[in-house]
Amino acid sequence: MEISSELARRLEVIQDDITRLRLDAIVNAANESLLGGGGVDGAIHRAAGPDLLAECRTIGGCPTGQARITGGYNLPSGHVIHTVGPVWRGGEAGEPELLAACYRNSLKLATEKNIKTIGFPAISTGVYGYPREKAAEIAVKEVLHYLENHQFPEKVFFVCFDQETAVLYQKVLQDS
Ligand code: ADP
Repeated sequence: MEISSELARRLEVIQDDITRLRLDAIVNAANESLLGGGGVDGAIHRAAGPDLLAECRTIGGCPTGQARITGGYNLPSGHVIHTVGPVWRGGEAGEPELLAACYRNSLKLATEKNIKTIGFPAISTGVYGYPREKAAEIAVKEVLHYLENHQFPEKVFFVCFDQETAVLYQKVLQDS
């Protein structure tokens, strides 16, 4: 399938630390407790400050595949959408569907909250062990499908921490 130029303009792969971006929302690859962790979750909580954890405590957790929204506090971005990716268990335990649901449910929340710009990290590909290429394929497919059917968010950034991941996302996008 060829992506239309209009759709292509609404997607961008960038290599950056997600906590430095100034967007309407950044997505956090959280765990079910929503009380912080390592990786991108730890970085987001450190940069946002303790008020983020205080708000997360009031939410009472989030099941895998779902998403919850909070303020961004000291982050340059206005909101954090916390989603819980699946732990990779070999691929036969519903991981692809759950990872797709993370992207879809985060985007749904963004639409509901009139968020125009949003940045996603590579959910589940760190400590949770999801193979990077498989995860990128799901991320791109799900986001493309959502944007085809919704005007908001206007712009989605795939925020890659390292160059290897950025190259991978570019390739997956080109092949879409
Ligand atoms: P998970 O538990 O969902 O696997 P991780 O935080 O361990 O989450 O990793 C998810 C992805 O986020 C990995 O690809 C990792 O390289 C990336 N990452 C870690 N820190 C940051 C950051 N500050 N900005 C953007 N991406 C990050």
